[in-house]
Amino acid sequence: MFKVQDQLCTHCNFCGDRGPMLCYAARTARHGLEGNFPSQDENLRTAFGHTQSAGEQFLPGVPRFKALRDIVLIPELLGSQRVAYRDKLGVEPLYIHVNTQTTLGGFMVNTPVVVAAMGSTPVANSISVDLGMGAARGGFVYAIGENVVNMWGYEERIHPDQPTLKDRIRAFTRNQSGMGGVVVQQNVEDARAGVWKRVYGDPELKEYFDAGLIGFEAKGGQGAKPGMGGEVKVPRQQAQRLSGLYHFPVDPFVVEQSLYQRHSVPGTATVESLHKQLQDMVRQFPKARIWFKTGPYGDLMAQIQVLDEVAAEAGIRIHLTVDGTEGGTGMSPLGPMNEMGLPMLSCLMAIQRARKQYTHLDYTIAGGLVSGRDFAKVLCLGADGIAFGKAMLVAAMAGRDQFAADFAGESALVQAGAHGVVNFALEGVTNEARMLISSVGKYDLAACKLVEPLPAAGRKVSTIDVLALDEQVARMFGLLYAYDPQLWDQLGEATAELRRRQEAVAAVRV
Ligand code: SF4
Repeated sequence: MFKVQDQLCTHCNFCGDRGPMLCYAARTARHGLEGNFPSQDENLRTAFGHTQSAGEQFLPGVPRFKALRDIVLIPELLGSQRVAYRDKLGVEPLYIHVNTQTTLGGFMVNTPVVVAAMGSTPVANSISVDLGMGAARGGFVYAIGENVVNMWGYEERIHPDQPTLKDRIRAFTRNQSGMGGVVVQQNVEDARAGVWKRVYGDPELKEYFDAGLIGFEAKGGQGAKPGMGGEVKVPRQQAQRLSGLYHFPVDPFVVEQSLYQRHSVPGTATVESLHKQLQDMVRQFPKARIWFKTGPYGDLMAQIQVLDEVAAEAGIRIHLTVDGTEGGTGMSPLGPMNEMGLPMLSCLMAIQRARKQYTHLDYTIAGGLVSGRDFAKVLCLGADGIAFGKAMLVAAMAGRDQFAADFAGESALVQAGAHGVVNFALEGVTNEARMLISSVGKYDLAACKLVEPLPAAGRKVSTIDVLALDEQVARMFGLLYAYDPQLWDQLGEATAELRRRQEAVAAVRV
């Protein structure tokens, strides 16, 4: 037998010396669309034609959280929307006909995928140019995290191997072709360094602001350590340079050691201060797209209400990323990482509910997500986009390993990493999502959105494109439960109502 691992490892070292290899992000970064298939052709024992497979029937270990694996897509054979689409297309539809171009957070994108904001931590910053170039070439969104200017510089490099904020922004602006966008995050320490003001006033970036390709993201929190600020370790000289800006538990002027923990503040907020911060962003930076990232907090709905109020007042859409507790990080103490915050699925449930009431926002979900299956399911459950953090780093590292020889010159490694990022996000994730979305007869991402609740044998369901394999998950999202004894009555009534609605729409169109 051979195993196929899709999940990301809790603690990832990029598969050690042999380079990212096993998980979905590594496979699709190296092999693109092929990475969506179980056979691994570089090895005869696992190669196509020499193996047979079936769907996973066992859970990996004992999962701690309910997850998207508890949800499946349910295609239909007869009379699905594929019929209407075939008539429109004039040919038999395929997954390649699913249109993934849309807008997300004010940007036109080829696919609503976001490189999640990752800040100054060396594991992310060192390959961050690959991420920006990949997002630009793929036509999706690249978010740049906190503390980059203080740690590595605005334009002039403080460390030869660590890109500055400008290097990271240019990785996107110099490789984009009008699709996608770059978003710059600012936390408390960044605000003290005037990061947004510098970027907005930078003459080199004016044309990109004019073109609507740059956004600013306020940071409310992140999944891996909600309630805590950014954390890294730095060598002594850097710790001494930064000692006035951040908290160092060990004094670098007194104690000599190789690395020092650097802690940034989480920031303090009230409903009023958040309202004012967002209003100030809109007023001070009218050409910037307005984004907000938050973590798996208990007062998530209150935060969403504030964002929606500001967006409605300003007549704009604000983009919100919600990062579930499964989210990744370059550094966090184990306690906060393991014991704080709501699971991604609970945050997704908040998005499903919020979007019915708070309609001036675009919603992106994050938190340990890795595949096209995750992408298709979060779209069907109410999200507008998906953000990948750890998976993007794996994709860039795998790309560097797989394609370095295919590129020449100084930026060969960066080009190779960017190729891995595009392979993962477009060839891997987006194509797999297209396969699943077309299987339920949908050929446009907007069509995945939740419909008016459907009657289903005495209850209401939000969609029949997806069902739950777990009863609690079914209740969370208003889905049918695959093992409900009444399932076929429920499906029968819901499908009939859906058909009736589709025919009514088709009749109006004729
Ligand atoms: S690259 Fe993937 S398989 Fe390898 S250690 Fe990281 S998460 Fe695990």
